[in-house]
Amino acid sequence: MKKIYLDHGATTPVLPEVFEEMKPYFLEKFGNASSLHLFGEEAKKALESSREKIAKLINAEPNEIYFTSGGTEADNTAIIGAALANSKKGKHIITSPIEHSAVLESVEYLQKNGFDIDFVKVDSNGRVDVESLKNMIKKDTILISIMWVNNETGVIQPIQEISKIARKHNIIFHSDAVQALGKLKLDASWVDILSASAHKFYGPKGVGFMYLKRGNKVNPTILGGGHERGMRSGTENVSGVVGMAKALELCYRDFEGKHEIFKKWKDKMIEKLEEIGDYHINGGIVDVLPTHLNVSFKGISGETLMYSLSLNGIAISTASACSSHHTNKTASHVLKAMGLDHETIIGAVRIVTGLDNTDDDIEKFLTILESEVRRLRSLG
Ligand SMILES: *Cc1c(COP(=O)(O)O)cnc(C)c1O
Repeated sequence: MKKIYLDHGATTPVLPEVFEEMKPYFLEKFGNASSLHLFGEEAKKALESSREKIAKLINAEPNEIYFTSGGTEADNTAIIGAALANSKKGKHIITSPIEHSAVLESVEYLQKNGFDIDFVKVDSNGRVDVESLKNMIKKDTILISIMWVNNETGVIQPIQEISKIARKHNIIFHSDAVQALGKLKLDASWVDILSASAHKFYGPKGVGFMYLKRGNKVNPTILGGGHERGMRSGTENVSGVVGMAKALELCYRDFEGKHEIFKKWKDKMIEKLEEIGDYHINGGIVDVLPTHLNVSFKGISGETLMYSLSLNGIAISTASACSSHHTNKTASHVLKAMGLDHETIIGAVRIVTGLDNTDDDIEKFLTILESEVRRLRSLG
């Protein structure tokens, strides 16, 4: 049975070219980037050229990029670090109820430590309500954190609009861009702080970065030897960083061509949904990434559908992969915030296509999806 992976929102495979680029940094070029001898120099050079590459691709300066262990760490440092560095100005933070747990748990931690958190409204399509955000701004608001793209629905948030509001009020604007980077040609300069993770865009797991626009203050949260200009201590993951830079470069190579293929596949999927009938696309179809499709089939739980597709060699997910760690399997906080009814929330599955998929994968998936939905429905 050929396996078909349609869960690229959870993670992506490392592209062969990325792996080849990384390989020497495990083997002969294994130096510690802090060492002053030739091995260290070699590693340092790779680290800095990767930083330049990434900066260029997101319209940033190299010294605005800080490497981290991934998206979770970047979110934690951005939010907790910015709150601590700016707490003399105020203690009010605005975020949304549809953020990733790395953001939600960070603001919860701050709330327990004397900060004041407000959650903006989200419409039924999972888009942050900009008017609600405007009305929440207070004199002591120091930070707004709104994700660039939601990981469960693929809905693109009104980042440029929020950016203008934040600028006008001189509030730091952080965006979790983990699900956006590589899938959108984004401009980091719209925000003050941004989080990213390599394994969501065909790089290795356990490496990411924080973009911090010059002039903004963030306290480091990981302390030690003063790596990354004091922002993030710990021996740099040189091979990981090299792979991350290569992966981003590849994502943006013939970006439009890739985008068209994803769009074509999504159109095919929606055609099939029409044939199957009785479905709801969570997040709608406007301003949503072409890779993402979150859909509920009436009368079928997402979990049942996910397991029956898995038996057929196909990987899709229910809600987000991260939420499956929680022992009390709560329904998706994202779909709940969108005001969807219980049956739709329980029915939701997420299909996310990626660069390693083929036309054949999509055809086969849609055939099996249709027969499984019909079979499960006939069971009542
Ligand atoms: C995956 C993800 C994260 C966490 O990134 P890791 O590198 O896996 O820690 C954070 N935010 C969003 C939106 C994500 O999709």
